[in-house]
Amino acid sequence: MTAVADPAVYADRVARVRAAMATSGLDVLLLSVGADLPYFTGYEAMPLERLTMLVLPVDGDATLVVPRLEAPRVVEQPDVFALLAWDETENPIEIVAALAKGASTAAIGDHTWARFLVDLLAELPATTFRRASTVTGPIRARKDAAEIAALRAAGAAADRVAAQLHAGEIPLVGRTEAQVSADISNRLKAEGHERVNFAIVAAGANAASPHHEAGPRVIERGDVVLCDFGGKLAGYCSDITRCVSLGEPSTEVADAYAVLLEAQQAAVRSAVVGTTCEAVDGVARRIITDGGYGERFIHRTGHGIGVEEHEDPYIVAGNVTSLAPGHAFSVEPGIYVSGNFGLRLEDIVVATDAGPEAMNHANHALVVVDA
Ligand code: ZN
Ligand code: ZN
Ligand code: ZN
Repeated sequence: MTAVADPAVYADRVARVRAAMATSGLDVLLLSVGADLPYFTGYEAMPLERLTMLVLPVDGDATLVVPRLEAPRVVEQPDVFALLAWDETENPIEIVAALAKGASTAAIGDHTWARFLVDLLAELPATTFRRASTVTGPIRARKDAAEIAALRAAGAAADRVAAQLHAGEIPLVGRTEAQVSADISNRLKAEGHERVNFAIVAAGANAASPHHEAGPRVIERGDVVLCDFGGKLAGYCSDITRCVSLGEPSTEVADAYAVLLEAQQAAVRSAVVGTTCEAVDGVARRIITDGGYGERFIHRTGHGIGVEEHEDPYIVAGNVTSLAPGHAFSVEPGIYVSGNFGLRLEDIVVATDAGPEAMNHANHALVVVDA
């Protein structure tokens, strides 16, 4: 489900994407399934073999082409698009192609099904296609006040589950990772999320695999357990990682965690407006490298977050995008020692004119729990 905002919000977003299209020499934007369409229209396409597509010319009227039986679901936005319902015996590709005819360059939503793109390529042989994210990504990346408030609420709900973990309220010893993952998922929902996106629970050496899938491994006393979880609350995503130790951690783990904590906190502090994304990654990476774990930090420092769990801007070497007010992203360095342990610490952060604002405030320490 998509939360429908004030119509003026969509009209403003469409005006901004049209300006970006004009700058990039795009004649038409084609949006189907994926997060772009609801962001610009309030309507989310059903992931079906029946085509739904917004045809948005750089100037001129936009049309939302939908299957007749889906039309009643559409909340019309007269300032943004006209609705065009197609019947079961019509060919929606031909309808879209007719609306986009004459476009020399089109941008198409990154998550559009290949079957539709393949058919459009055949129908519009003179048109060059690009990815829509080249124009939609930078716009979606900068959150307005209402979006930041939504991210803050999602972060607070995830923090409450992290607090339960730290307080020992989530039983760990004797349960499998999968059971704890299901428990965390239920708690995310109890704290207001409408959907759980993931709940990674990785015990002991399993945590050395950053995206380990919670499995049958039974959690034992002495384990360090990595929990990385998030979902959607009122349309916006949460994403937090905390590690807990069932008993005093080994010196090796405690030392590595101290390095990780310093790296994560320094990277968050460095995320001020005007700093490049790659510089934020560099701050975390330098501290972890100086601590002797450079080769153990095997992924980028973070990803943008909003209506999607992963979106622009990516906090990674090579991304020279400068942080601007409203950019929302994770800061989540990790240290992974194969066969031994894995540690990660993650907060969502928003760049503001007043400095970086964390959406997560749960205890950042490697908390020793008795659970
Ligand atoms: Zn991840
Ligand atoms: Zn995460
Ligand atoms: Zn993340």
